[in-house]
Amino acid sequence: MTIQVDTTERIDIVDVTSDVIDIFPSEFDRGVCTVFVPHTTAGVVVNEPESRLLSDIEHALERLVPRDEEYDHNTIDDNADAHLRAMLLGESVSIPVVDGDLALGTWQSILFIECDGPRTRSLEVTTIPA
Ligand code: ZN
Repeated sequence: MTIQVDTTERIDIVDVTSDVIDIFPSEFDRGVCTVFVPHTTAGVVVNEPESRLLSDIEHALERLVPRDEEYDHNTIDDNADAHLRAMLLGESVSIPVVDGDLALGTWQSILFIECDGPRTRSLEVTTIPA
């Protein structure tokens, strides 16, 4: 199952929780749902989609991996910072499924984090029965 996401900024955080729930098979009752990002300059995390926190996440990524450092990969396509930021975020999350629902905590959402946008991206959603 594939979700498509259009990002609008170079760093862009998109809450994809409802997209995952929409694509989720209704007959799937118990197990694990994985969301995988098949890209090298974007990541996915589970966290709180509060607007000021999203801004803090963007600024933290910029501080941790500055755009204007000298990177060897920049001689290829000038996006080494995006690869390194994506590597810190990780490329997949696994969420337990209990009684047909994602067992996310009250403040948890699935956040796709673009590091080299704007682009159209895809996410692969897989369900594993338990
Ligand atoms: Zn690259």
